[in-house]
Amino acid sequence: MAAERIPLRQIKGVSAQKEQELHAFGIHSAMDLLEYYPFRYEDYRIRNLTEVKHGERITIQGTVTGVPVLQRYGRTKSRLTCKVTVDQWLVTCVWFNRQFLKDQLTTGRELIVTGKWDQGRMHLTVTDSEFADKESGRTGTLQPVYSVGGSITQKWIRKTIAQALVQYGAMIEEVLPGVLLDRHSLMPRREAIMRIHHPEDSEEGRAARKRLVYEELFLFQLKLHAFRSVNRERQDGVAHVIDNGTVLELAQSLPFELTDAQKKVINEIVHDMRQPYSMNRLLQGDVGSGKTVVAAIALYAAVKSGYQGALMVPTEILAEQHTRSLQRLFEPFGLQVDALTGGMKERKRRDVLAGLQMGVIDILIGTHALIQDGVDFRELGLVVIDEQHRFGVNQRSILRRKGMQPDVLTMTATPIPRTLAITAFGDMDISTIRERPKGRKPIKTYWVKHEMMDRILGFIRREVAAGRQAYVICPLIEESEKLDVQNAIDLHIQMQQAFPDLRVDLLHGRMTAAEKEQTMTAYSAGETHVLVSTTVIEVGVDVPNASLMIIMDAERFGLSQLHQLRGRVGRSDHQSYCVLVADPKSETGQERMKVMTETDDGFEVARRDLDLRGPGDFFGTKQSGLPEFRLADMVSDYGVLETARDDASELVSRADFWEAPQFARLRERLQQDQILESERLD
Ligand code: ADP
Ligand code: MG
Repeated sequence: MAAERIPLRQIKGVSAQKEQELHAFGIHSAMDLLEYYPFRYEDYRIRNLTEVKHGERITIQGTVTGVPVLQRYGRTKSRLTCKVTVDQWLVTCVWFNRQFLKDQLTTGRELIVTGKWDQGRMHLTVTDSEFADKESGRTGTLQPVYSVGGSITQKWIRKTIAQALVQYGAMIEEVLPGVLLDRHSLMPRREAIMRIHHPEDSEEGRAARKRLVYEELFLFQLKLHAFRSVNRERQDGVAHVIDNGTVLELAQSLPFELTDAQKKVINEIVHDMRQPYSMNRLLQGDVGSGKTVVAAIALYAAVKSGYQGALMVPTEILAEQHTRSLQRLFEPFGLQVDALTGGMKERKRRDVLAGLQMGVIDILIGTHALIQDGVDFRELGLVVIDEQHRFGVNQRSILRRKGMQPDVLTMTATPIPRTLAITAFGDMDISTIRERPKGRKPIKTYWVKHEMMDRILGFIRREVAAGRQAYVICPLIEESEKLDVQNAIDLHIQMQQAFPDLRVDLLHGRMTAAEKEQTMTAYSAGETHVLVSTTVIEVGVDVPNASLMIIMDAERFGLSQLHQLRGRVGRSDHQSYCVLVADPKSETGQERMKVMTETDDGFEVARRDLDLRGPGDFFGTKQSGLPEFRLADMVSDYGVLETARDDASELVSRADFWEAPQFARLRERLQQDQILESERLD
């Protein structure tokens, strides 16, 4: 029987109750227990007193020399002291609440003690002690420290894992092929698992960890690559027929020339669309880098090749905006573009659904309403998901299932640091736009205190006088939408009083869809000078004439949100500005403001954000899709991750990967994870 299937109860010392408790740690079999790795070691190696420092935690060995003295205080507390000779020194050992030791500390007995060293007084405050004449588990070693809790104590789990190693260690089998072990001089698996629990020295612990981290990351990457490869080979996606003329035709109708970066990603997308597998591509590009037009060209190509396209966006405001701009763009080409949103009239909705089913509608744009039941496409060939970080993985797959196997293009303006990209989105192909359209000037960003409101008002007036428009954002925190809306209403009144001669509008989430649309239309048309808004405009909104973004209480926003908001300006060649009105109390709050003033490059912002928050928080845990690793740390083990990815990719593309006996164990793993159907394996 493989160790994966050996029940915990077979390990000596594991009772039914302990077994239950181990389950809570995700430990279900003997193998799980062997793979429950320590996160650090405690050093019980015996030290020489000449080389220890004051305040260090040390282990020393000596002979009981004096008579132990016990002092009691309180009802249960006690202090036991005893002189011990260590080499030529006389050390005073102090135990708290260990009165039972008193009788065992007989003169001449050899003792090993661990504790905190007081150099000046030659005192050791003992945390662990044992007699050298008794059988000892710890002495002279690095002891593993596991994460424990409940009735599972450190001592118990150490003993139990050591026991499991004795009983089942020999059954640990290698999973990595020899070529990879050789290439990276990795320890065999059995040895690595033995040693990570009980290393001779820190060097050995590190080597064992290195091997196991590599294994973990490699198997993870292998899954992603195998999945992609299998998906490609299945060839059950749509092979769009697209000629280059089609793409050029639309590109030439644009009022601007595409940037090289846009051309590059369009090529990547079109190449995928032509293939018989279903595309699964992530397009990342900073705010304002021009992703919409890339999506438009892909949608156009899909329609020209005889299919329908869908564009899913996170907000109704964005759905309206995209619908307007795509209708304008596709009008001369006779394409039918329609929207489906939550707030739509029933009759209109029925018309749209019918048009969709009959294939009269070529492109449908909408919020999550797009994926409700009853929305049926005639022949869906491409799905574009804008501002992906707003959608759950689940919604994506539902939409995907609506068509046969449509191509999927996911777009995000939250640049994903490479570390995360190859883990969270490792199953996707990634296209990146790193350049902004020509003529764009960096957005000047300032951080000011509330006292400077008068100057901010002066700033708004100046920009408006120059023909530009401004946004003033106030925070919206989910839990108290009502209060925040009131906030926005108050701010709106304040702004109206400050600018009696200008048109100042208000936008917030409690307005009806029609009201929102009206407000946005007026702002887009340049009729409104100042728009006071909550974060409903956070993503995607595109009004190129707006040049001033003022964010009130900016300390209440995260970095990526601030960057998104700032991205509402700087969308034309006018110099744009962002003013953060904030008085952050915390250090990271101040750091966020600093980052914003120092850079307007979204990739850099994301990198700094990752530094400040750590990868787990980066996307918010729920949607992150980030895998949990036992050992690997995505930041510090990044180099290994890259190596593992390259190895996995190389292996999967080898002709003999699917057959050669040396890879049988890996194929078995893929089968267990249902990435391979069983018939693939002979
Ligand atoms: P985002 O990537 O944030 O979605 P958009 O697609 O909304 O950016 O584009 C931002 C603005 O830049 C839009 O007004 C768009 O028309 C314009 N734009 C896109 N590509 C170019 C280009 N190559 N040259 C000039 N302007 C462009
Ligand atoms: Mg956009």
